[in-house]
Amino acid sequence: MFRCIICLKDLPDEMASQEHIFPKALGGTQVIREVCQACNSHLGRFVEEPLINNWLMQAKRMLLRLPGKSGCVPNPLERGVLVDEPEVKVRYEFGADEKAKRLYVIPQVKKETVDGEERIRIILNKSDENKLPEILERIATRYVAKTGKSCTLNQISRREVIVEHPQIKQDVCFNLWDWQRGILKIAYELAYKELGTRYLDDPAAAKVRAMLQKEDVSREEATRVGIRGEIRLLGQEKPRLFVVDNPDWLVGGLIVSSNAIFDYINLLIPLRVAWC
Ligand SMILES: [Zn+2]
Repeated sequence: MFRCIICLKDLPDEMASQEHIFPKALGGTQVIREVCQACNSHLGRFVEEPLINNWLMQAKRMLLRLPGKSGCVPNPLERGVLVDEPEVKVRYEFGADEKAKRLYVIPQVKKETVDGEERIRIILNKSDENKLPEILERIATRYVAKTGKSCTLNQISRREVIVEHPQIKQDVCFNLWDWQRGILKIAYELAYKELGTRYLDDPAAAKVRAMLQKEDVSREEATRVGIRGEIRLLGQEKPRLFVVDNPDWLVGGLIVSSNAIFDYINLLIPLRVAWC
């Protein structure tokens, strides 16, 4: 039997799992076994993914060649739009040597109504031109299934664009709040690893646990329950380290003061967080 540190259920050993304190996709190697499989997959989906898959983390994972679950190393630079044709979405494909290999137009089907007539605009890479009949057939079948009406597709126009020196634009947008629960999870598990089961009875631990069990938590909700913390980019100060995963990438530490526990987590970026 073991007690899951997230749902606090006492469960048979077969339901335990390998929970990486720092996510595996960030190069984390420290594991705890006291998280049940259901809680492990919940944490993976709702708590760790927003932390791992934001632009900055992906960029760093690319530099460190850290693959995700699919085995692929992410490349946040590969998708964008053409500067001169912003509705054309493109993918920059990189070879194994990390050199740009080719620029590929991502197929897109757009519906629009012009003078009461439904029109469909299809944007394709030149090399995908032979797929056009198949795409049209799929659109027609879907239309008939949805409306019960028959349909005839007439080609109105075709435009071929050759871009000599394509310039790609990429919007980078991330929200630090998306990361905070991921960081809080690491802090909670580090505290458990260092302090043992007595930490689970701590009222602050109960608050953190409640936040980790939800699918989504707003910043206001976190403030209301009294979870405090901050994320600082590029901080220089070194915490006292109790747990070191890979000192160049991932560092976790705890400082216990009279009535509070402070967690320091230094992730790849570097990004330093203090929770108490
Ligand atoms: Zn559980």
